[in-house]
Amino acid sequence: MTLELSIIQQTLALAFEQAETEGASQIHLLKIRISKEADLNIRPLQSAFEMFTRGTIAEGAHLEIETVSVIYHCALCDWDFYSINEEDKCPLCGKVSQQVVSGKEIELVSLEVS
Ligand SMILES: [Zn+2]
Repeated sequence: MTLELSIIQQTLALAFEQAETEGASQIHLLKIRISKEADLNIRPLQSAFEMFTRGTIAEGAHLEIETVSVIYHCALCDWDFYSINEEDKCPLCGKVSQQVVSGKEIELVSLEVS
């Protein structure tokens, strides 16, 4: 589960940074999106998350994982977006995008802190 480990490490690094910026002392919920193309397994991601959060401000936090199929790129907005339910319209301008981008395996969607 090396890939899962490094992905969780990266995500947590982002989350801790964001929590610190917000002056938070506890992370309650982490919402992430992973690409189906990355071929990641949810269970090792969850165990890696539990392992790395032990003794941190994210200990006991809930990890919510959403899998998305494709990443599109809107040339007009210069914006990458994930396709949910095969929706290929740019969320910014509403135009249908044809260009498919891959490689971005994970995205930190939201963070609930206090
Ligand atoms: Zn657009």
